[in-house]
Amino acid sequence: MIIATDAPATQEARRVMDICNACRYCEGLCATFQAMSLRRTFVDQDFDYLANLCHNCTACYHDCQYAPPHTFDVNVPAVLTDTRIATYEKYAWPGAFARAFQRNGLLVSLVSAVLITLTMALALVLISNNVLFGRFSGPGSFYQIIGHTLMVVVAGLTFGFSVVAMCVSVVKFWKATGKGMPSLKSVWRGCVNAGTLKYLDGGHGEGCSSVDDGFSNQRRIFHQLTMWGFLLCFAATCVATVYDYGLGRVAPYPFFSLPVLLGTVGGIGLLVGPVGLIWNKMRSDTTPMQVDYYGMDFAFLIMLFLVSLSGLLLLALRETAAMGMLLVVHLGLVLSFFVMLPYSKFVHAVYRLAALVRFAEEANR
Ligand code: SF4
Ligand code: SF4
Repeated sequence: MIIATDAPATQEARRVMDICNACRYCEGLCATFQAMSLRRTFVDQDFDYLANLCHNCTACYHDCQYAPPHTFDVNVPAVLTDTRIATYEKYAWPGAFARAFQRNGLLVSLVSAVLITLTMALALVLISNNVLFGRFSGPGSFYQIIGHTLMVVVAGLTFGFSVVAMCVSVVKFWKATGKGMPSLKSVWRGCVNAGTLKYLDGGHGEGCSSVDDGFSNQRRIFHQLTMWGFLLCFAATCVATVYDYGLGRVAPYPFFSLPVLLGTVGGIGLLVGPVGLIWNKMRSDTTPMQVDYYGMDFAFLIMLFLVSLSGLLLLALRETAAMGMLLVVHLGLVLSFFVMLPYSKFVHAVYRLAALVRFAEEANR
């Protein structure tokens, strides 16, 4: 669904950004204000770009002399959150799935519950109890429960579709918000800023002001644990694929092997990070937040936590009779995660990276 140019989120973003561009008090806080100050006037797509540069630290709300109860009613984090969620719908691919971002928390929970139940039901019907609750050990033990080909085909199709959907979406976003290809230098700078979560430092290194007027790096730390936890788990999967197809080494692998070590460290990050982010959000001042979107955030974080928890339990109990059911549950969770990837909070990562690359490109100029 394409947002009309007179959509309320865009109108309010224009009103607020016009005030900010005249004021410019917050210019040092983050990339959003620096990118804003490079523009004298705004086209609608500029708000898509600026909204995805914002990570909702709320520093500008706490610093603003025009925030409510002032009659200007400037609430930059809230208006950019509205605009940001609207971009997820606007650039979603296929367009028919754009509505997945409405009541997203409920949708992600429902789809996940259905897929996990379906996976477990199929396993109970199709796999004999002797196998499902049997004890297996050594290379190939997972494939005694579910065939290697079936696992690869289902994971490949769902993850492949999600990657294609997100690539199409981010290309649409890139084309709408500016021109040309980015330089390698800008891509590198954007990746470094995304990887270090540079702008979660509040512009002064002391972090977000999510709880009150003070600052804290807690959100940045928990976000780092979540992001790097995810990337390490992804790296573990890539290494395991090379082991399997390149070296002919069949899973599961010993604990002191590269895929298992990467997956274990990443998995612990994915347990601590999401819990910390939920805890941080629950105790945050909700005035500059849009609590309507908390469902989207929480559903995604809980999904990450459950995927990680089931993976770590599978690692710990893989030589017991619990392995079969744990494998089925873990694969059901991973399947849900893959299916919902382009229609969940995960997309903020790709849009934000694209916005940071564009910002580096503008800064270079
Ligand atoms: S948020 Fe407030 S203080 Fe900051 S630039 Fe905008 S109007 Fe000025
Ligand atoms: S909420 Fe934080 S990141 Fe967003 S515009 Fe304000 S200062 Fe920048």
